[in-house]
Amino acid sequence: MIYLDNAATTAVAPEVLEAMQAYLREEYGNPSAVYTKAAVSREAVDRARSEIASVIGADPDEIYFTSGGTEADNWALVGCWEANRERGGHLITSGIEHPAVLRTCEYLEQRGAEITYLKPDSEGRIDPSDVKAAIREDTILISVMAANNEIGTIEPIREIGEIAEANGILFHTDAVQAFGHIPLDVRNMKIDALSASGHKFHGPKGVGFLYVRKGVKIRSFLHGGEQERGRRAGTLNVPGIVGMGRAAALADSCMKESSERERMLRDVFISRIEKEIPCVMLNGAREMRLPNNVNFCLRYLEAESALILLDLKGIAASAGSACASGSLNPSHVLLACGRDYEDAFSSLRFTLSGETTREEVDAAVDALKEIAEKLRSRNPDYPNRADAQ
Ligand SMILES: *Cc1c(COP(=O)(O)O)cnc(C)c1O
Repeated sequence: MIYLDNAATTAVAPEVLEAMQAYLREEYGNPSAVYTKAAVSREAVDRARSEIASVIGADPDEIYFTSGGTEADNWALVGCWEANRERGGHLITSGIEHPAVLRTCEYLEQRGAEITYLKPDSEGRIDPSDVKAAIREDTILISVMAANNEIGTIEPIREIGEIAEANGILFHTDAVQAFGHIPLDVRNMKIDALSASGHKFHGPKGVGFLYVRKGVKIRSFLHGGEQERGRRAGTLNVPGIVGMGRAAALADSCMKESSERERMLRDVFISRIEKEIPCVMLNGAREMRLPNNVNFCLRYLEAESALILLDLKGIAASAGSACASGSLNPSHVLLACGRDYEDAFSSLRFTLSGETTREEVDAAVDALKEIAEKLRSRNPDYPNRADAQ
């Protein structure tokens, strides 16, 4: 089995599982309680909070644990909108955000918000000058993702953060694909709120966090107990939080080597496809790209069919994104980048991890080459068909 769908989710690292074990077994104390047993859980949660904060240059008490990236995105948008309504009801985001942001924007529109959806260029980059031009008197929040989950394009977050700060507007970034993969610094990048999710960087599923800069006005999203300084109710997912903290520390300590390795394999992957398979187009940016993302449009074949044939060869990849596949809708990200429906339905994503080997990359390209020939040979429109030459 060759797993090349690390943007959908990652394997839990052995050290992460190891760190979590005790909190699933004997150390089950509720961190909110007063006895000694609770203090053990509380200290573990505090350690995780510090580990995570230090990765992005935040203070530990600016980190709020959530059930994942989706909750963090929902909270950032709804919470900032509700807390800042007297200042206006206009939000700026991009057309290539994850559904966790886009569907939340639609929800806010139903409640009276006005939203500007910025269009990216053909590589998926949001132009900071477009952000600036979209600002109105009543703009309260800008939300632009740090890196795109489908095409891997890294956005100019610092430039956007500086524009937001200069205009006194809050800036949220969905950093679910970026955290633990590329360097992030909330102070330097002028980020007011940042979402991330444990299972995208070798932590467990069902746990994530929202960083909220001290002093930012945000309403609670989940109402109940006084956990997380009264801002996020619900008994803490101690094993999940401990695992995510360990995963964050691991990702941070080996980010440089890991991303250099991934980038090298990614570039082998990309150049082999471009050299050996005809009629292909790279989706996303070539330079400002996540080190582990490969996304190609392979014209004259259907991505869904290719995925099934890849799976038969033991290779796990994705068409567009996990959230988009299984549905009959083309990727909104590829359409926003100017691809047509046919191109969008012919696009495949391969996302590597620090464990991916050169042999796996070569096997995946060899398999893809064979599959592309097979599927295209049945397509009467394919110009390079053997019988057409
Ligand atoms: C996976 C993902 C999410 C959702 O995170 P969950 O923890 O799975 O809810 C949000 N945004 C981006 C960019 C993602 O890749």
